[in-house]
Amino acid sequence: MKQFQFDYSDSETLNKKLSEFKEWCDSGNGAKKIFQIYSEELEPECIREVCDIIEKMFPNTLYMGCSTSGNIIDCQLSGRITIVCTVFELPSTQVQLYQYDLSKQSVDDITKTIVKETESNPWVKAMEMFFTIPEQSSTQFCEGLKNVRQDIQIFGGVACSDDITSDASCVFSKAAGFSEKSIIVMFYGGDDFYVDSIKVTGWKPLGRKFHVTKSKGSVLQELDGIPAYDVYHKYLNIKNDENFFYNTLEFPLFYEHNDTTILRTPVASNADGSITVTSDIDVGSVVRISYGDPGTIVDSIRHDSKKIAEFQPDLLHIFSCAARRTFWTSKEPTYEIQPFKEISPSCGFFSHGEFLRTNGNLNQHNVTLVIAAMREGEKKASVSSAVSPDENIMSKVPLVSRLATFISVTSLELEEINQQLALANEKLKTAAIIDGLTGLYNRREIQAQIEDALANIKKERFCLIMLDIDNFKQVNDTYGHQEGDTVIVGLADILRNEQTAYMQKVSSGRWGGEEFMMLLHDTDVSSASFIADLIRRCFANTNFPSVRPQTISLGVTQAKEEDTIDTLCTRVDVALYTAKKNGKNQVITR
Ligand code: GH3
Ligand code: MG
Ligand code: MG
Repeated sequence: MKQFQFDYSDSETLNKKLSEFKEWCDSGNGAKKIFQIYSEELEPECIREVCDIIEKMFPNTLYMGCSTSGNIIDCQLSGRITIVCTVFELPSTQVQLYQYDLSKQSVDDITKTIVKETESNPWVKAMEMFFTIPEQSSTQFCEGLKNVRQDIQIFGGVACSDDITSDASCVFSKAAGFSEKSIIVMFYGGDDFYVDSIKVTGWKPLGRKFHVTKSKGSVLQELDGIPAYDVYHKYLNIKNDENFFYNTLEFPLFYEHNDTTILRTPVASNADGSITVTSDIDVGSVVRISYGDPGTIVDSIRHDSKKIAEFQPDLLHIFSCAARRTFWTSKEPTYEIQPFKEISPSCGFFSHGEFLRTNGNLNQHNVTLVIAAMREGEKKASVSSAVSPDENIMSKVPLVSRLATFISVTSLELEEINQQLALANEKLKTAAIIDGLTGLYNRREIQAQIEDALANIKKERFCLIMLDIDNFKQVNDTYGHQEGDTVIVGLADILRNEQTAYMQKVSSGRWGGEEFMMLLHDTDVSSASFIADLIRRCFANTNFPSVRPQTISLGVTQAKEEDTIDTLCTRVDVALYTAKKNGKNQVITR
């Protein structure tokens, strides 16, 4: 593969340069080639002019292009309109171009068509995509492409414009011309075509985590139940003014999705306290504010450029977020990609979003650098090594980086302690309402539930069953206290089972020693008596390991509107007492 590039300044000069190139091609070189056009200009006239020149001079050559926030050639900024020609040198290499109109086809249809195309073209090894700024979430698109054959790499960028806060963008190709709402896809493949792709973020999570509690598409409404803007205001003192975008740029939200890290940059704060971010974040995501740490970025690049160098690419396609360009400032916008310059020729652009498939999942990233490496033929014997980026930047870790680490570690420690506290709290809460021996509610809790039910009696009737083991003193005396306990637990198990078997809305609690209370919501007295007798029979037929079967007596009553907790409990207690008096092992209803 070879790369040739041409800056456009006017059509005459471009015509001249391309004619020379055509001559070279016609003399037996560059039989198979494609053009990539990166344009900081959004003007359709201007773009059409460039396309027309290519179309006229190379009528059989595929081309694709998009609007950008800066063009990259060999890891350096290039002209406002840059034309790159990739010449393939091996006959087995294949390319194919598609353009899908988002205003005419649904995302679902488009992804299904793409999947079908990859199925009918088994030679495909990679897909490069240029996307106009999506009006809605790109999640559906990414999900739809999950079904693309697992070994196909997918990468690309969202078109952008000079003004990175603007929604204006366009794509164009030989397939369907200029469009402000389309996706362009180029397939690459063939037996001798090899491809690899990576992403670099280098942004580090900072401080505490937040749960996304409300969001709609790319409008992030609430974090931990408070307006998303308030988080930026409280923790970073960023004001809701015309500089919001630039002030938050270095502090995108950082989260895990599909086993990879994703960044989302706030682009605007809205009147209702919500913020618009570069793409959607699902409710339930756990996010942290992150910051761009030059040291971390340089480290990541040092690591990843090695991987790319080992691949021995013929050329690289670079998709870097426009936010990264701003981060490195206008003085050195391509500072971080310099290490790739030594590896191979490269081209690309500053984008509004970056696509990359990792672990089989396609994600739309922001503030991320995506690099696709391509090669025709096997690796050469000699391994070229990547040049490390400027070591000086790391020799003195900036104070801010150390402070950020301090904040992150401190917050992680606090989070851990909070988690332990929450766990301990949960245990305490359980201990406060659950009886230790039986696992049923304790007396205080079941009493509180009866009081709640009484307060609600106009809306819902309810009944109580009070039960007590007959002659339990004898059990203790005969078999010992421990065996007595197994009988108490055995009865508790029956109450638990009965409540799951017969009705949802039953609460059972241990009222005292071997005495229990059941609260049956939305139940009339005849059903309650029926259940009480069922429990009586069940217990009478229960065998214990050492203790012979025992019996219980039960009192049943229905709560009345005029009842207090005392009158109600006394009535059910009297019913139980009557059952005992009448000879035990029976149910008495009052
Ligand atoms: P009745 O049929 O009239 O209920 O006779 P009873 O022997 O069961 O009399 P009562 O209900 O007054 O006695 C309850 C006994 O239960 C007294 C107490 O020693 C025993 N007991 C209370 N709590 C526990 C416990 O947690 N474990 C065991 N094993 N025994 C307990
Ligand atoms: Mg008893
Ligand atoms: Mg008793």
